[in-house]
Amino acid sequence: MKKILLPLCALALIAGSSSHAQKKESEILNSIDAKADSYASIAQEIWSLAEMGYQEKQSSALLQKTLESEGFKIEKGVAGIPTAFIAEYGSGSPVIAILGEYDALPGLSQEAVPYKKSAGAAAGHACGHHLFGTASAAAAIATKNWLQANGKTGTIRFYGTPAEEGGSGKVYMVRSGLFDDVEAALHWHPGDNNDASIGAALANKSAKFRFHGVSAHAAGAPEKGRSALDGVEAMNMMVNMMREHVPESARIHYVITSGGKAPNVVPDFAEVYYYARHDSRDVVIEIFDRIVKAAEGAAMGTGTTMDYEMIGGTHELLANVTLQKKMYENLKKIGGVNYSAEEKVFADSIAKSLGYKKADLEVASGLQPFKEESRPSGSTDVGDVSFAVPTVGISTATWVPGTPAHSWQAVAAGGTSIGHKGMMVAAKTLALTAIDIFKDEDLLKKATAEFEKRRGPDFKYIPLLGEREPALDYRNNPGN
Ligand SMILES: [Zn+2]
Repeated sequence: MKKILLPLCALALIAGSSSHAQKKESEILNSIDAKADSYASIAQEIWSLAEMGYQEKQSSALLQKTLESEGFKIEKGVAGIPTAFIAEYGSGSPVIAILGEYDALPGLSQEAVPYKKSAGAAAGHACGHHLFGTASAAAAIATKNWLQANGKTGTIRFYGTPAEEGGSGKVYMVRSGLFDDVEAALHWHPGDNNDASIGAALANKSAKFRFHGVSAHAAGAPEKGRSALDGVEAMNMMVNMMREHVPESARIHYVITSGGKAPNVVPDFAEVYYYARHDSRDVVIEIFDRIVKAAEGAAMGTGTTMDYEMIGGTHELLANVTLQKKMYENLKKIGGVNYSAEEKVFADSIAKSLGYKKADLEVASGLQPFKEESRPSGSTDVGDVSFAVPTVGISTATWVPGTPAHSWQAVAAGGTSIGHKGMMVAAKTLALTAIDIFKDEDLLKKATAEFEKRRGPDFKYIPLLGEREPALDYRNNPGN
């Protein structure tokens, strides 16, 4: 009997341990699902608050409260930014970070309806950062539950990172050493499909150029005036000519944020806000220096004076194929977003407003094929994090397929159950990936080796925005 019993016992043990591990994974996913309503209402509240960069007081406090009530230790006001914080659980190595954003965009207020209708607010969540912050917090909480249930050593941190949209919040957090002991960082971004391919982002430098002239009556004494707006226009003209003589993939954009108040008064103040981007930070630095020269020349030629304030500066995104493949595996396990009948009606209206016949729901429910390379379009301050630690991200379908970021359609869908469903895909995929990193020492070793190789042995971190303090007032009115 003994002979038979032993193998049976062993078999039972093996079967027991594997179903145990299985159960744990499904338990983690269930624990996220069980809080779906609570996460949806947190995201909805941040969506309604729609606080802009460095002004995300209530959004940041809400996420802090959520994490604190789950046993995370909170450190707020980090890196000299009142709305930045770190929530930490556990101790020792490995230290895994999950990034969360929560800033809204100016001028994109929109109700959760499938036609353009402002909610009358100053800003809107047109990049879905209300979902970003909430899902990342959900993933951090689920990972904490797994650490706790398995008695594992390790630290899970949620990084509350403000002002992604132009404020470069994460750059100050990297610069002040907050990622020094972190071993991997996870992030995600709302999108119109589910994609765990290698991400790419453009390095970016931005600044506000301020011209100062002399006011005068524009008809009575124009010779006494020197127009600050002339300075801005002359600068823009030079930069627009320069476009022919920069690498083709460079991007330069500007908005005139102050151009005078009345045509009959020569403006003594004018301001233009510039971005320069390219997929190599060295090219960005060079182009930006030429933009500064154009500004100096414009001031000289128009008899005005000019000063400028660096606003943002971010690195390109450093890929990590090792972690990215793991993320893709997990996204495959979770799957995409399936719409209810009501959501389909909403989605079709949104799709029509974008020039499509109807919404392509297979894009929302399916996955994009894994690609090891992608074309960068925007910029993100995650770039600087990716040069500090191995970093991995995904995007999930929180918006109706075909919806571009920074559109009213993105704000609208993000304020409905469509956005909440997409956010849950992200929360689960991030949690599974974080747990994999805690579980698999070799995975982290391999990811770290890849990171070191890609970054290069001579890498030295030089923030593109220099030594400036966080531009806490960059969303305020010009000239303040
Ligand atoms: Zn964004």
